[in-house]
Amino acid sequence: MSRYQFISNEPQQTLAFAKRLAERLQPGDVIALEGDLGAGKTTFTKGLAEGLGINKTVNSPTFTIIKEYQGRLPLYHMDVYRVQDSYEDLGFDEYFEGNGVTVVEWAHLIKEQLPKNLLTIYLYHEDEQARKLVLEPQGTRYEELCKEIF
Ligand code: ADP
Ligand code: MG
Repeated sequence: MSRYQFISNEPQQTLAFAKRLAERLQPGDVIALEGDLGAGKTTFTKGLAEGLGINKTVNSPTFTIIKEYQGRLPLYHMDVYRVQDSYEDLGFDEYFEGNGVTVVEWAHLIKEQLPKNLLTIYLYHEDEQARKLVLEPQGTRYEELCKEIF
C-alpha cells in the first residue's frame, strides 16, 4: 500500500491542503479521518468544504452524527465518535453510495460499515501548530487521487 505524507505548520496549511484535494473530488468519494481530539480532523473538513464551494460554516457536530452541505458536490460530514456500537447502522451506505463526498471523523469506530475503497488520512499532533498528515489510499481511484496531489 502507498503512503503519502504532508506536514502542516499551521491551520491555514491544513485548510489549503484539504482545499486542493477537494477540487479533485468526485461523487461517491469517501475520506476517513483518524486522529486524536484536536488533531485537525474538523479543520481539514472545513478546508474540504471550502474547496467544494460550500459557504456555510462547518463545525464539529456535537450531537448530530451526520450533517449535509451543498456545494459543487454535496458534502456529507460524519463524526461517529458517539456511535455506541460499531454495527449501529444509521444508513451510512446511502451516503457512501450517494452523489456527494463523504468525510468521516473517527472512521475506525464504524470500520465494519466503511466501503472497501477509500482514502484514509491520519492526523498526528506534532506540536502546538504542526500536524503530520499521512494519507493511505485504498483502491486505484484513491491511488490516482494521491498521485495527482503529491
Ligand atoms: P479534531 O476535529 O481532530 O478534534 P479540530 O480541527 O476541531 O480537531 O481542532 C484542531 C485545533 O488545532 C484547532 O483549534 C486548530 O486551530 C488547531 N491547529 C493548530 N495547528 C493546526 C494545524 N497545523 N492544522 C490543523 N489544526 C491546527
Ligand atoms: Mg472534530
